[in-house]
Amino acid sequence: MAIYGLIGYPLSHSFSKKYFENKFQSESLRDNQYKLFEIEKVDSLKDIIKQNPNLKGLNITIPHKESVIPYLDKLNDTAKKVGAVNVIRVEDKYLTGYNSDYFGFEKSLFQWFPEVKISKAVILGTGGAAKAVMAVLKDNNIEFTLVSRTESTHAISYQRLNTSNIIAESNLIINTTPLGMAPKPEGHPAIDYNQLSDTHYVYDLIYNPAETTFLKKAYQHGAKIKNGYEMLELQAEKSWEIWTS
Ligand code: NAP
Repeated sequence: MAIYGLIGYPLSHSFSKKYFENKFQSESLRDNQYKLFEIEKVDSLKDIIKQNPNLKGLNITIPHKESVIPYLDKLNDTAKKVGAVNVIRVEDKYLTGYNSDYFGFEKSLFQWFPEVKISKAVILGTGGAAKAVMAVLKDNNIEFTLVSRTESTHAISYQRLNTSNIIAESNLIINTTPLGMAPKPEGHPAIDYNQLSDTHYVYDLIYNPAETTFLKKAYQHGAKIKNGYEMLELQAEKSWEIWTS
């Protein structure tokens, strides 16, 4: 029997559990189990490893994607580059960290976004998901502006964004903030939506609801829109490949 699981806090609703249980069912892997480990402090990972000798792999979600790094024996190159881990492979208590959000975002982006010669992007939010998005854009030579509620040397404020022409001059806008996620679907990033037009590709990492207020507003201004569902499926499938390869 092999055990897989998810660590995070809180874990009220889990896409991963349903996804892997369906997979175990459809691929006749009925001895496999996918467990939810709701841990407030990442230090509890040590106990999970001790108490589950058949544990082969973990997914990591909010708020542990960065704080888990010191508990790992090794990071693969992508996880190092991103600076966040959302998959752990467990081999005899030896823990290797990976980032499948990078893979999921990159693949889903380029299945949809035409590789236009001069691409400029705007990334809203500076959390763990934004780190994977930034690494993908850098690796594909797409220039980007990072936007945060707190201005810094790396990021501009929403006010500065809205009083510039940056949105109008960019062709890809990506929401990596949780604004608009269920159960608060009315939330949306405070950008100047009037700068959007049919030249824009607007991507929201949120997958629930399928059409966020952010995407609805962008669509009303003529933009092409995409939600995070495909990224979610691609990153889950990549986790499986990492655990079983
Ligand atoms: P996070 O670290 O909690 O938040 C991301 C960033 O959003 C924060 O660092 C913050 O940036 C900004 N933010 C947070 N609350 C805000 C608010 N009230 N108003 C404006 N900005 C706010 O979350 P995350 O792990 O990066 O995930 C972000 C979203 O991506 C979540 O909805 C998650 O479900 C989704 N996600 C989807 C996938 C997928 O496969 N589709 C994968 C990963 C994540 P500043 O402080 O700089 O403003």
